Amino acid sequence: GLPIVAIVGRPNVGKSTLVNRLTGLTDAIVHDAPGVTRDRTYRPAFWEDREFLVVDTGGLVFDDDSEFLPHIRQQVMSALSEASLAILVVDGQTGPTPADREVAQWLRKNETPILLAVNKCESPEQGLTLSTQFWELGMGQPYPVSGIHGSGTGELLDEVITYL
Ligand code: GDP
Ligand code: MG
Repeated sequence: GLPIVAIVGRPNVGKSTLVNRLTGLTDAIVHDAPGVTRDRTYRPAFWEDREFLVVDTGGLVFDDDSEFLPHIRQQVMSALSEASLAILVVDGQTGPTPADREVAQWLRKNETPILLAVNKCESPEQGLTLSTQFWELGMGQPYPVSGIHGSGTGELLDEVITYL
């Protein structure tokens, strides 16, 4: 089947907005393909000559900003196990939170490769400053993006397709 990219992160960091941006605002949802699971929403995405599916793990909600509960962890694990790559989305304007640190620590132990997207970085100058704070998550280079404005998403997608 098509490679799957899973979008992970706490609520309100802009996962849904970023997914819309990465999938070109199409409403298409893939219901039937190898690896596709009924309780998640898959959207087709294209970059360069590659096609892949983006799954928004929007239902994988943390109870509050500091707890990553076992049953939620299980759901994230399931989404990750089918994915070629995960993108951890964080909020550049709030900076790293305890929940970001906890999820990052957990994701690092997982076998699925992870890219770190620092959302809400509306300008390149701001993006550099805001994204630098996220090196501490230990997920490698933070990619500044803006789901709303679309800035930085080309650089992120260039990196994404190297994992597919
Ligand atoms: P989700 O809960 O992670 O799926 O986040 P949403 O996509 O629903 O977005 C949460 C809030 O962040 C909404 O109010 C969005 O308008 C806002 N948001 C999303 N992307 C951006 C962005 O690139 N810049 C700014 N400033 N706000 C954003
Ligand atoms: Mg959402």
